[in-house]
Amino acid sequence: MSLLIVRLVVFVLLFWAGWRLWQYWQQMQGSRVEDKTSDKLEGESMVPCAQCGVHLPKGSALQSGPRYFCCREHQEAFERNAGE
Ligand SMILES: [Zn+2]
Repeated sequence: MSLLIVRLVVFVLLFWAGWRLWQYWQQMQGSRVEDKTSDKLEGESMVPCAQCGVHLPKGSALQSGPRYFCCREHQEAFERNAGE
């Protein structure tokens, strides 16, 4: 009978350890996501490239009137297409 109790205690301990590990892992994941969102909130706003649609910080984007581009090639390609 006591062996059964020992097994039960070991099982519960293993389960508890696994649960704590899972919670710890979830917390790590959560804090990483929070870091990302706070970076976004503190940092510059993101703008999409008018040519390829990739989002980049406003500061590193090339602005051409109301539009933003990720690189000069895309700005030139967009203006070429718009001119035709
Ligand atoms: Zn682009």
